[in-house]
Amino acid sequence: MSNGILVERRASIVDKCGSGHGYGKGKGQGTGKNKGICCERESVSGAVSQRACVYCGARVVLNPITDAYHIVHGPIGCASYTWDIRGSLSSGSSVYRNSFSTDLRETDIVFGGATKLTAAIDELMAKAKPRPQLIFVYATCIVGVIGDDVEAVCREAERTYGIRVIPVKAPGFSGTKSQGYKLACEAIMALISPHKEQPRRFGVNILGDYNLAGEMWIIKGYLEQIGIPVVATITGDASLEKLIEAPAASLNIVQCAGSAAYLAERMQEEMGIPYIKVSFFGVEDTTTSLINVAKALGKPDILGRARYLAQMRTAEVMPTIEKYRSRLGGKRAAIFVGGGFKAISLIRQFNELGISTVVVGTQTGKKDEYEVIGSLVDDNTVILDDANPAELEHFMLEKKADILVGGVKERPLAYKLGVAFCDHNHERKHPLVGFEGIENFIKEIDLSINSPVWRYVRG
Ligand code: SF4
Repeated sequence: MSNGILVERRASIVDKCGSGHGYGKGKGQGTGKNKGICCERESVSGAVSQRACVYCGARVVLNPITDAYHIVHGPIGCASYTWDIRGSLSSGSSVYRNSFSTDLRETDIVFGGATKLTAAIDELMAKAKPRPQLIFVYATCIVGVIGDDVEAVCREAERTYGIRVIPVKAPGFSGTKSQGYKLACEAIMALISPHKEQPRRFGVNILGDYNLAGEMWIIKGYLEQIGIPVVATITGDASLEKLIEAPAASLNIVQCAGSAAYLAERMQEEMGIPYIKVSFFGVEDTTTSLINVAKALGKPDILGRARYLAQMRTAEVMPTIEKYRSRLGGKRAAIFVGGGFKAISLIRQFNELGISTVVVGTQTGKKDEYEVIGSLVDDNTVILDDANPAELEHFMLEKKADILVGGVKERPLAYKLGVAFCDHNHERKHPLVGFEGIENFIKEIDLSINSPVWRYVRG
């Protein structure tokens, strides 16, 4: 270990300035001159990764389906992961805000928990209102160890009740959070595949947006404004009825590629629906995404409207960007978020404001995303994959970060160091996508970074 950095973690940390810390030197990061960062691997044992577990990854993707019931087959602790910490909004059902658990105990672990799972499904079917049409059953760590036949229980329940009961075998130890995303995508494929023969119609599915603080509604609003109907949203504000229409769409647009690119690829292969990646964070990415969606649909009138919308809305937010640039220019930001696509958009947003990104990391970033990140930051930046608290604190101090952008697990790290914080995760209460989100983001960054409290905290 050197400066709190485990030797086994060094290949996952790239210091672009190459100033001799003993971990990866990144001169040329993003230009193809170096081997690049080590990523898309399981976490190093004992490193106390910030990454969430496999089950958590699966639940992130599936939980926003508003009329689905979620049974967590495992000890009660796993079930504490509920809607309350992933505030996706609904325009219809609120069933998804409940969480059900088989609450496995020692005796179940010795004698098996399958009977208890059957009883939980039976009880839900007897008591739940409205009557369940779709149940996801998550097998967590201990079920992965004792080996309950969760698939057989789900199959039997489907036969008995004539509804969809989909197993998600997601023991936390069985891989990374990305594996959980993949399992969730497979569960969605199991749900929609029987409906793939329906006639195709003009319109898009939005994949990888979870309607946090109503963000899906903003994206959907832009698309409808320029004449693009939205067939299904996967999974923000989704319902069973709308989800099974997804195979009818003519294009998939993928907002969070980390969680939904696998689903887009499967839908392309098995249903012939092409896809493009988008990001609706920041002026540059929102504008590019609107234009790219219009181009992919091949309709010149829609392309014209997309350009016009982006131009008008950019003109509206530019005065805010100009106003705050003088208050924020020259500050230094650290970023630690779930996926690479969001980190890329955040760096671009900070560049627009004159803020330099000095530390940037993700839980599940991919090699090509780190290449883009490397090309966007300057030579004073540290890039980390799958970081832990010790590393984040070390580099925030070393690079003199003024603000950390992250999620609930990163907030205390920042406050402990007397560093400002911006929540860009599932707990956020105001939307950060689109042109509306740009204003919210800038104001939050300013409020936090320029708060007088830091003068007293830092002494
Ligand atoms: S699945 Fe395993 S790692 Fe994930 S919350 Fe449950 S016990 Fe913890």
